[in-house]
Amino acid sequence: MPFPNSVREESLVKSHRRCCVCHEFAGRSANVHHINQEADGGANVLENSIALCLRCHAEAGHYNPRHPMGTKYSPSELRLHRDQWWDHCPKTPEEPIGCGLEISYKRDPSSDGDLHTYWLLISFTNTSMTKQTGFTLDLFFPPKIPIIQTGSEQPVDFLEDGARCQKVVAKSDETIYRDQTIQLVGKDLRSVRYQMNHELYDEPRASTWRMLFNLYMGDLPVVREQRDWIDMHCF
Ligand SMILES: [Zn+2]
Repeated sequence: MPFPNSVREESLVKSHRRCCVCHEFAGRSANVHHINQEADGGANVLENSIALCLRCHAEAGHYNPRHPMGTKYSPSELRLHRDQWWDHCPKTPEEPIGCGLEISYKRDPSSDGDLHTYWLLISFTNTSMTKQTGFTLDLFFPPKIPIIQTGSEQPVDFLEDGARCQKVVAKSDETIYRDQTIQLVGKDLRSVRYQMNHELYDEPRASTWRMLFNLYMGDLPVVREQRDWIDMHCF
């Protein structure tokens, strides 16, 4: 007898339709598998269910403790994977990768008179399912803005989307683990400061200026963000 529909649905929803073993999104290939087989007295209840992708389902279906090859998936191991995944899913609602990019700035207290200095602060939370190694963050500043940076390359003039801008590149080869938040640009490493004076605050074209952010990290899709320039400083 198969699982009742209500059990299958609950098991799929609790797993975000991802495989409880390899965590791949399984979509229509998702199987709701009996952890303890019906032939062995396994019941058609949620507690005995696990969502698996096709590949892992094929592996799990051939569990035979007497078979000598490799390490097969035992019912108790499957249950541990399942419990670990069900614990993880509610804490990480499915959201597009990139919601993890936090962009802000802080005015340096040394700012005085006509020259204000701002620190750019950018952090990223790895909400993907796997660790990521290395990133390149391209920052596009409006033209004319004085930029002071450490740990990243000198700004270069650049045309992005037909608009003149200055490009700053911040890079690292560090590893960012799942759910880890790291400072991509901050006060300690890879610092980027920009300066504003009276003339720049009054620049009439500044109302159309934007700042663009492109993050390339490991095997993730490119994360693109933008901000209006007027939201990147406070007078
Ligand atoms: Zn799988």
